[in-house]
Amino acid sequence: MKYDYDLFVIGAGSGGVRAARIASLAGARVAVAEEYRIGGTCVIRGCVPKKLLVYGSEFAQAFADAAGFGWTVTGAHFDWPTLRDNVQKEVTRLSGLYTSNLYKAGVTPFEERAEVVDAHTVRLLKSGSQPTAERILIATGGAPQLPEGLPGVELGITSNEAFLLKELPKRILIVGGGYVALEFANIFHNLGAATRIVHRGDRMLRGFDDDLRAHLHIESERAGIELTMNATLTKLERAGGALRATLSTGDHVDADQVLFAIGRHPNTRGLGLEHAGVKVDKDGAVVVDEYSQSSLPSIYAIGDVTNRVNLTPVAIRDGHAFADTVYNKRPTAVDHRSVPSAVFGRPPIGTVGLGEGDARLSHGEVDIYRTNFRPMRNILAGNQERTLMKLVVDAKTDRLLGVHIAGEDAPEMIQLAAVAVKAGITKQQWDSTVALHPTAAEELVLLREKVQGPLSPA
Ligand SMILES: Cc1cc2nc3c(=O)[nH]c(=O)nc-3n(C[C@H](O)[C@H](O)[C@H](O)COP(=O)(O)OP(=O)(O)OC[C@H]3O[C@@H](n4cnc5c(N)ncnc54)[C@H](O)[C@@H]3O)c2cc1C
Repeated sequence: MKYDYDLFVIGAGSGGVRAARIASLAGARVAVAEEYRIGGTCVIRGCVPKKLLVYGSEFAQAFADAAGFGWTVTGAHFDWPTLRDNVQKEVTRLSGLYTSNLYKAGVTPFEERAEVVDAHTVRLLKSGSQPTAERILIATGGAPQLPEGLPGVELGITSNEAFLLKELPKRILIVGGGYVALEFANIFHNLGAATRIVHRGDRMLRGFDDDLRAHLHIESERAGIELTMNATLTKLERAGGALRATLSTGDHVDADQVLFAIGRHPNTRGLGLEHAGVKVDKDGAVVVDEYSQSSLPSIYAIGDVTNRVNLTPVAIRDGHAFADTVYNKRPTAVDHRSVPSAVFGRPPIGTVGLGEGDARLSHGEVDIYRTNFRPMRNILAGNQERTLMKLVVDAKTDRLLGVHIAGEDAPEMIQLAAVAVKAGITKQQWDSTVALHPTAAEELVLLREKVQGPLSPA
């Protein structure tokens, strides 16, 4: 044999594990290296533990809502170590499953860091060995970014550490305006921490539909999260037993924890890619073609490290498509359009397809259908949270271009709406679906009036 392996995968996250398993089951000799814990960001310190914390944090609202339905909840008490440790137990269980699935598929795992030496060689840092492979797959994901040059930056944490905090902070300052910032703000706020988001933009959730962004801004403030927009941190320091952040506005904010959620960068630093001749872009993402092949033909890259659509199901698709293309002789390119996504805030968001602004840019004239209401459940509960639903339709073809929901169960609804958007159905076909009563989702198929202009606060 010319090489030690047919395929060497660097990174055992969502994409790497899928690619390794499918390639191995197709008959390839596969190894995978993981420098932290098998399972990757999603399983260890992303989607899964985050969603479990969201579930845990939502009891607070449920207890508050219960009174309107006749319940008296007394003595409710939250214990952070219990939730944190139970979440970590589940993470460990899942990581074990991922590991055993690799073994079952015949993949050789190395639990150590790997770097690229050349087109067919990797270096394993702990053992110092240099196995060779016909192909190398870069599946190293992304890592949290920190504000460059901020004095005291080392006093803050990122989402990586947020899952493992010894104590629940009484006050937390979250820096950033993306979905990770908003989700952690809701988790900590619901669990009882005084929570403030500081964001350099004038609205959170850049890239999402503007009405959704406006709605989330209103609802987050209504829920009691303090929002400081158009501001950054200029200094972080210890003050007594806490931290003091100085803002670009000159204000000071005291907190027990400062969490930086200002974005993620592709995990290619020190990986040896440029040295081996693999092209990376200005952000460090590996440049690949539609089959995930890099500028060096024996090296491929999938998932977050390519910075295409940074979501777990996409990384898994990328990994599977790579293995099908190369080892199952079924060339498969992943379509990265109309991928649904969620933000588990209050209210949660589910969104798919084009937002109104992007749709106008790419399609010209669009019709907008929108409703903003207080769902039935919230009336009895005395809960003021409102739901927003919005459809973006191509005025020329009547095709549905985007569905955007902020409301209870929006992530669950959007998965099915995504089928319709992906299939390219028309608004007329959408409307021909009979409503399901009584649900909030029925409002989606009852939207008949076109609206104009941005959402105004209700
Ligand atoms: C807080 C948070 C919440 C998220 N929530 C969601 C969500 O709700 N839904 C969703 O779809 N996505 C979510 N994501 C994004 C999702 O986690 C990623 O899109 C997904 O994990 C990408 O998979 P991947 O295989 O590309 O990389 P990863 O899962 O990041 O795996 C890469 C692996 O490579 C390892 N590695 C890196 N360099 C090396 C090296 N040199 N040698 C060996 N190993 C290495 C890393 O340790 C890591 O385990 C979330 C992310 C975060 C941070």
